[in-house]
Amino acid sequence: MEIKINQAVLSLVQGDITRETTDAIVNAANAMLAGGGGVDGAIHRAGGPAIMEECRKIGGCPTGQAVITTGGNLKAKYVIHTVGPIYRDGTKNEANLLKSAYLSSLKLASVRGLKSVAFPSISTGAYGYPLSEAAQIALQTAMEYIGDDLQLVRFVLFDGRTYDVFCDELKALVG
Ligand code: ADP
Repeated sequence: MEIKINQAVLSLVQGDITRETTDAIVNAANAMLAGGGGVDGAIHRAGGPAIMEECRKIGGCPTGQAVITTGGNLKAKYVIHTVGPIYRDGTKNEANLLKSAYLSSLKLASVRGLKSVAFPSISTGAYGYPLSEAAQIALQTAMEYIGDDLQLVRFVLFDGRTYDVFCDELKALVG
């Protein structure tokens, strides 16, 4: 599914983000930038050790912020590593932190002059964020930000359920 916002494109696809050809892909990292399971592990496996070397030099990333490294062996030139919140009960600033993780990544892409960026569904795997709420925040933030230099924001959703929920939430947002 895809929509146009002015001249820019917001698209949803089901797939593996490590195969993306956007200028940057976003990693759902942890605060230590230490690698791990899920999409983080997949990106480091596919991208090779150059990415982890840079992550070690950077040293870490607070929740809600983002850092950028090379894309190593990936087709994408850069990986933007952002840290989403671990979901507790919804009263621990989770929504603001999730929004901030998306916004920090989008801003970093703009600052670097990138034209296209692909996101996974941040925080909805091991970090336990309820999917519909997370999808709403992800899509709203992307829709508010997209345009000018950033011409394509693509959400690459790994499993069918996540893809379906993102499609439902996007339909609800655009009416
Ligand atoms: P978090 O710790 O932020 O919750 P996870 O990696 O556990 O991050 O999960 C975030 C989302 O990434 C989940 O929807 C998961 O299915 C998805 N995911 C896992 N591997 C990939 C991949 N190769 N490409 C895109 N998304 C992926």
